[in-house]
Amino acid sequence: MRKKIIAGNWKMNKNFEEAMALTSEIVNMLKDEYKGSAETVLIPPFVYINAVSRMLEGNISSGAQNCSNHASGAYTGEISGDMLKTIGAKYVIIGHSERRQYFAEHNDWLAKKINAALLSKLFPIYCVGETLQERENNIHFDVLNSQISEGLFHLSNEQMKNVVIAYEPVWAIGTGKTASTEQAQEVHAFIRNLVKEKFGSDISENLTIQYGGSVKPDNAVELFSAPDIDGALVGGAALQSRTFVDIVKAMK
Ligand code: PEP
Repeated sequence: MRKKIIAGNWKMNKNFEEAMALTSEIVNMLKDEYKGSAETVLIPPFVYINAVSRMLEGNISSGAQNCSNHASGAYTGEISGDMLKTIGAKYVIIGHSERRQYFAEHNDWLAKKINAALLSKLFPIYCVGETLQERENNIHFDVLNSQISEGLFHLSNEQMKNVVIAYEPVWAIGTGKTASTEQAQEVHAFIRNLVKEKFGSDISENLTIQYGGSVKPDNAVELFSAPDIDGALVGGAALQSRTFVDIVKAMK
């Protein structure tokens, strides 16, 4: 059975006290209200991962928003996969569009980060997605093809089993514009097929593909009804316990 994952990316938000309060609210609400099988992942800023991880119960994990492509050494300001693993992180986002856009992270660089994450036994959530201009120019499938093949196609089948992909159309992130369920499903099926051609149907059928881009409680149910949408990577709506838990609850 394909794993369903709802992850909340807090980005650079919340002070320590607020992060602790948000975590405890989410943990308590899920304990009381959620009977489904999806895994919930909280992805706070690096500095809170340890404290957040210690508060988690049940089918809730933590993750990081980024990691270094190096294992250790003189890389001032960087955080390695091992550091994250040993403070409780299970997942790590690689290639979020904000990292691609503001920190010039390109596919070849991200491929190295994927390797580093896997070496540290973290599960990478590899983000892909086209800009509005790329969609309007009708080159979104080419862009997605490059992001996936250059970022992931060097992996072995064993490694690929541990990768999650998040489709996040850049034009839908933080804009309130969600891709329609048909648009998202079309891309998810395309991604699954690309992965099938390279790694075979066992891997592609078990691959978790999350959708991200203005997911809210009122659009989550419909998005999650699509056959190739296996969860969500949530930004803005993950900063408030009620809305985030309601999105998790939309995944039966
Ligand atoms: C994101 O940044 O991964 C994201 C999907 O943000 P939002 O939900 O706010 O669009």
